[in-house]
Amino acid sequence: MLDEHLLGLKIQLVIKVVSSQKFGDLASFEIQRSMEQPLVLQNVSDAHWKFFWSLSLTYIQRNVIYRFITGCIPSRGRLHYMMPTVFDSHNCPVCLSPHESASHLLFDCPSKEKVWQGVIFEFLWPTTTIIDIKEALLSLDFSDIWYSQVKGIRPYRILLITLSQIWLAHMRFVFDNTPLVPEAILVSVRSTVRQTVDEDNIHSLL
Ligand SMILES: [Zn+2]
Repeated sequence: MLDEHLLGLKIQLVIKVVSSQKFGDLASFEIQRSMEQPLVLQNVSDAHWKFFWSLSLTYIQRNVIYRFITGCIPSRGRLHYMMPTVFDSHNCPVCLSPHESASHLLFDCPSKEKVWQGVIFEFLWPTTTIIDIKEALLSLDFSDIWYSQVKGIRPYRILLITLSQIWLAHMRFVFDNTPLVPEAILVSVRSTVRQTVDEDNIHSLL
């Protein structure tokens, strides 16, 4: 099984190749992206960006949400649009439904939906919806998701942990053919939540 660092490098490589082939070179891709960003980023206020950059997150946790907000998740719909000769289908590789979007890859694919439902049931206020979670992540405004069933961890940390574990499981499925099992992702979420609480407890004692 790939470790997280190697998996991250592989993902970066695919994105770089796709970007350079579509736009000719990376420089022109950067220009294209910088033209798109102001519209995409309108949902996030300056205060929420400041809050985000102040958080202590892992590389994967920060990378996935940043990509989601800026529209850079390498979903099959996006990859097919950018490089149709390499990615000949825009279908979801997991459930085969047509046009895998970023939202489908991270939230709406049935296996990912099951993970989010499990996380809501186990960690959050029971009436929280996946739409609420998506909106909070896209705006970095977590004021409506304020309740955590676990002491010692804020709900937004649980959301970021879940998002990164779903992303890792998806990439392992794509690159390693590792089966994508919602229960296994939930085990990883649970373990990372516990580890985060323990680490914060240790830091508070130092
Ligand atoms: Zn799917």
